[in-house]
This record gives sequence, structure tokens and C-alpha cells, in this order.
Amino acid sequence: MLSNHASRASTPDFMPVVPGLWVLRDVFVNLYYAAVAPAQPPGPWVLIDAGLPGSAGKVQQHAEAVFGPTPPVAILLTHGHFDHVSALPGLLEAWPDVPVYAHPLELPYLTGRSSYPPPDPTVGGGAMAYLSFLYPKKPLDLGPRVQALPADHTVPGLPGWRWLHTPGHTFGHVSFFQEDDRVLVAGDAFTTVVGESGLATFTQKQRVHGPPAYFTPDWDAARDSVERLAGLAPEVAATGHGIAMHGPALREQLLQLARQFDKLARPKIGRYAHTPATADATGVRSVPPPVLSPWVKGLLVAGALAGVAAWVVRSPKKKSPAAWSPRVQNPNRYAERTWRQRMEN
Ligand SMILES: [Zn+2]
Ligand SMILES: [Zn+2]
Repeated sequence: MLSNHASRASTPDFMPVVPGLWVLRDVFVNLYYAAVAPAQPPGPWVLIDAGLPGSAGKVQQHAEAVFGPTPPVAILLTHGHFDHVSALPGLLEAWPDVPVYAHPLELPYLTGRSSYPPPDPTVGGGAMAYLSFLYPKKPLDLGPRVQALPADHTVPGLPGWRWLHTPGHTFGHVSFFQEDDRVLVAGDAFTTVVGESGLATFTQKQRVHGPPAYFTPDWDAARDSVERLAGLAPEVAATGHGIAMHGPALREQLLQLARQFDKLARPKIGRYAHTPATADATGVRSVPPPVLSPWVKGLLVAGALAGVAAWVVRSPKKKSPAAWSPRVQNPNRYAERTWRQRMEN
């Protein structure tokens, strides 16, 4: 039963969202199982997204409980971030004939051609953002197993659905929409949890929220995508992070997010806050330089000064201030250089 007042404690990890659509919460990310013919007893089905590394067994177990041992007709990807695709190696081995579909602009990150722009921990917002520099960055290489979604916006295996290009969070991000019941599978175009916060990610408290900020390299495109999705007036939104929401509360919050996107979602500071990364069909073309938040700047300056102080104390010979002043003349610059070197590694 859908609720806009649910939490992790009140919802099982695997449950139906609407007739014919099930969600599996894989620690902090969702993947979806959609029946090809929802009105009939479970038969052919489609998997949307593929969770965290090491989840292939769990994904299969839940599929078998509903659909039996038959593999899906297709695997559809909203985008290729590690938390949405990393059970794929195991699943594709178990299901050797199942095709994977993604947007053409997402293919470079699924065929080993390009890495995504680096995550931006300086956007702040909580532990999930600060830890984002640890997230896997290497692209999967699915080779010929992955192909472009049909250009006519039909969805393989799901008659009655269409896909929409909703870039911003990634260049080839897509959402899937079932028009009759207005069910939207939105990936990370927006979420229903404050995904940057470790606490909110743990409790899963519901709220329509922008795309995960630390992983979003084009905020103008992300805003346009949210405006477009709000314009669909969905009855149900099943997102990549957070518990599905529905009805007027969903639509009001989504409309508010679209109208006040720059205030509510775009980070105040951050590498991509005002300058996007750019990409083409071969992968990333340019990324802006990293930006230091006052928080990080403070830590780095404090660290740099502590290092200088320790060096002075340990130094056997007395040095005149002139001998080391060039290094501390502009500690911000020194700290920024150090940070940039770290980010580029
Ligand atoms: Zn993502
Ligand atoms: Zn995600």
C-alpha cells in the first residue's frame, strides 16, 4: 500500500508499488521489476536498473519468487551509475540472452569508453556526499550486451510505457512513464529522499528532492528534466532513491521542486553548481576545475598551517621568516593546489 508517510522501518525491502510493478530496495538504491502484462498472473517481465555490486543473487531470488525462474525479457537502465548497474555482471552471466537497453549518450559509460565526471564531495549536505569520493568510478564494459533504446521512445518489453530523455544527473539519463496509470519510474532525475544525508538515507523519510547532488554534473539540464517530469503530473513516482510517493502530495512537491529548483536542489557551491561538465556520444569532453567549499578550505588551510608549524618546530637550524614565508604567503592557494592534485588522482 502506497503511503507518503512511510519509512525504512515501515516498509519491507521488496514490495509491490502498483499492480505489475515491484520494488527491491538494495541498501540505499531501488531497482524495479515490471510485468509485461500487469493484469494477468505474473508472466514475462522486465528489470529496471540493477542495484549495487554483489546483489545479483538477491535480485534473482526476488524475481523467482514473483515470476518463477524465467529470465526477464530485457533489462532497462535509467543510467549507468555504479549503484544502478553493478549487479549486471552477475545477472548477465546467469541470463546469457537478455539484452540491456540504455540511452545512446549513456553507452560510453557502459562499454568502458569513458568514466563519468568525478563526483563532487564539496556540494555538502551530509555523509553520502562527503563520502562520494570513495564511490567506484571505473565504467562497466558490457560490450555488445548493451544497446540503445529504440529511437521512437517505445520501451522494449513494456507496451504502454515510453521513455523520456531526462539528462542532468547523467548525460543519457532516462525516465520511464506508463501513461494509462501515470506511473513514473524516474531513476535519479529526482528522488523521494534527501539522498545526500546519511541519516535520511537510513530512515528513508519521504520527500521529493533533487537528484543526488554529488553525482550531478549539469544543473540546468537537471532543472529542465524535473520541469518536464512535473508536467506529466504523475500519480505515482518510483525513484532510484527513496520510497515511492503518490497522489496530490507527490504532484505538489514535484511542482514546487520544478518551480524553485535552483533554490531547493542546485548546490550553492560545488564543482558543477554553475558550470556543467560536457559530453558527447564518445563520453566526457570537459569538466570544470574542483571548487573548495569554506568547510574543506578551512580544513586544508588548517592542515597546511599545522604542517608548516611542525616543519618549523622540527627544523634543526633556525630559519629567518623570509626562508619559509613564500609557502605560507597564500595558504589558500597552497591548500587548493594540494586538493586539486588529490582530486585529479
Ligand atoms: Zn545516479
Ligand atoms: Zn542513484
